[in-house]
Amino acid sequence: MPSKPNFQVPSAEPNGTRTLHRWPILTGENYRKVIACISSGELSGSGLEVINEFEKTVENWIGGGHVVSTNSGTTALMVALLTLGVGPEDVVLVPSYTWSATAFAATLIGAIPRFVDIDSDTYNLSTEAVAKAITPDVKAIIVVHMHGLSCEMDEITAIAREKGVPIIEDCAQAHGALYKKQYVGTLSDIGCFSMQKSKHFSAGDGGFLVTRNAALAQKARDICNFGLPTPKHNYHFEEGLREGYAVFRECEQIGGMFRLNPLSAALVIDQLEHLDQRIEWLQEAMKPLVAEAAQVPFLKITQPGSHQTHVWHKIRVGIDYGAVDHYGRSMADIRQGLRNTLARSGIPSTLWTAPILPLQKVFRPYAGTIDWTKTAGHLAIENSFIVFDEKYPLIAQDPSTMTALVSKLRQVWSDYFASLE
Ligand SMILES: *Cc1c(COP(=O)(O)O)cnc(C)c1O
Repeated sequence: MPSKPNFQVPSAEPNGTRTLHRWPILTGENYRKVIACISSGELSGSGLEVINEFEKTVENWIGGGHVVSTNSGTTALMVALLTLGVGPEDVVLVPSYTWSATAFAATLIGAIPRFVDIDSDTYNLSTEAVAKAITPDVKAIIVVHMHGLSCEMDEITAIAREKGVPIIEDCAQAHGALYKKQYVGTLSDIGCFSMQKSKHFSAGDGGFLVTRNAALAQKARDICNFGLPTPKHNYHFEEGLREGYAVFRECEQIGGMFRLNPLSAALVIDQLEHLDQRIEWLQEAMKPLVAEAAQVPFLKITQPGSHQTHVWHKIRVGIDYGAVDHYGRSMADIRQGLRNTLARSGIPSTLWTAPILPLQKVFRPYAGTIDWTKTAGHLAIENSFIVFDEKYPLIAQDPSTMTALVSKLRQVWSDYFASLE
């Protein structure tokens, strides 16, 4: 074993005259924490010290509420549904456009996802569509703060309250996003987060949920640990007996192995310190694009309301339909041409994730009678795409590089449409 471990950070790659960084940004301190965790020999279990430290750190950041760590965002969503008593044949409202995990969380516990159309400007759940879809058989709503912008929580909460239906927030793309000055994840019964490598708060893999309700937090903690009664702290045999946690004990409910790996907790704890700063840089870099969207030909970009902040986990740019009429070309042609031009200038893009879920084969049994090809959500996704690279995302870059890349995007976009004239 080398006496001096060599803490090398993941490589950066040149992009023109600039160097692009990988995400997450790892420092020597991250490596030291992981190695300390390995040295402790505590590599699995409930109530481990490093897990407690992680949960406390997140609790302090998010402000109030109990945090329960999980091994992914998908399991956080599944555990949230189980915690709220959702089970086989229960209907769960989910947006038609989201990552598959939101709907799979329902199907994996035998529940039935019912898809709800989205708003074509924000890519978030349409409040009117929720009001229409919320019949008496609905047992929960999963709202997704898509790409880093909060849903219209007051309106959706009012509809849900009237029917007595609990809300779960899927915040996998929205760590640090504010709605009326509150962090998303604290605006509902249970907020669910992912720490997969592409997310703003990234452990490689992992997740957590947050709830203000101590009983729900305890139930979620037990479900994450095979349905066993699970104290929050690591306990010794005698202490366990004293507190009523028999060492050999019965499972009290359905559960599984959904706990966060302590190595992932060790890797991620310190990253929370820099999250809000990086988000501020990102918002600053995005400002000109958002403010000048109207002056960039045929560019559509989500405009956050004055009651919201957008954390730009993904930057989805839309092409205005006016371009189709103006140039007499198909939307697909224009979109592909634009993406090729951007790629040649060092700005990669992706169609992530298309088509919308009810048009994907695995979800067709849940699509109902709606013609999803005619919905606002489908059309919005078909005339848009996501810019920048998951491997070298904007959030990982120095502020000046963020600004330069956003400005390049704006320039290449304008030049492309000028070239079509
Ligand atoms: C990433 C993501 C998830 C799933 O998180 P994992 O940690 O990958 O399981 C769920 N919902 C949305 C919206 C996501 O983007």
